[in-house]
Amino acid sequence: MRPASHGRGEAFPLANAVFALSVHDPGSLPPPGAPEIAFAGRSNAGKSSAINALAGRRRLAFVSKTPGRTQLINFFSLGGRGYLVDLPGYGYAGVPHAVREHWKHLVGSYIAERPSLAGVVVVMDVRHPLTGLDRMLLDALHDARREIHVLLTKADKLSKQSAQAALAKVRRELATHYPGATAQLFSSLNRDGIAEAAVRLGSISRGAKNKAPAKGE
Ligand code: GDP
Repeated sequence: MRPASHGRGEAFPLANAVFALSVHDPGSLPPPGAPEIAFAGRSNAGKSSAINALAGRRRLAFVSKTPGRTQLINFFSLGGRGYLVDLPGYGYAGVPHAVREHWKHLVGSYIAERPSLAGVVVVMDVRHPLTGLDRMLLDALHDARREIHVLLTKADKLSKQSAQAALAKVRRELATHYPGATAQLFSSLNRDGIAEAAVRLGSISRGAKNKAPAKGE
């Protein structure tokens, strides 16, 4: 048995992610192919650190950090077996209206229409989960019938007990409003939660191979 599988199926092959391309307009998306797992999150939630921890790379996602300016979707190829997709962050203070509108257009159409999108990881700071903007994103994902996995990151900033309580609370909220969505604790600093995430993403990506896209159902 492979170490990360825990006997529950193969983990998503996040290691060996290699930058493939950046997309600025929905019209420039590459033709759909292998399953894509996208990462989204409020600015500063810890999304770039989480991607780097999961991919076992130190600066993979930071290449694409452009707060409040050009907003790009970045694709990282996983050796032909899938794509890790870094969606632009949201909630930057003082972002011009036009940039916010561009985010909605770019990310909104990707979420609603992308046939090869298997699921979305929503990264939240465990100390401030489920903000209004997070809920707007979750609503859009739910409407598009997307698989959702929440990473409650920076878990190292809380005691074990407080982190578990925060996780339980988020799971209750998700079960009420977004049935099927899953959540886990994560720490990029301590590298906690990597195997759990990889297993869940593996099962999400396998589901995508057996399912038609949500649109047109
Ligand atoms: P992003 O804007 O969502 O991509 O967030 P970053 O990954 O850039 O992280 C924002 C800040 O939080 C940085 O100062 C990181 O060093 C810090 N950070 C991210 N993840 C963790 C974590 O798991 N634990 C701790 N203690 N700090 C973290």
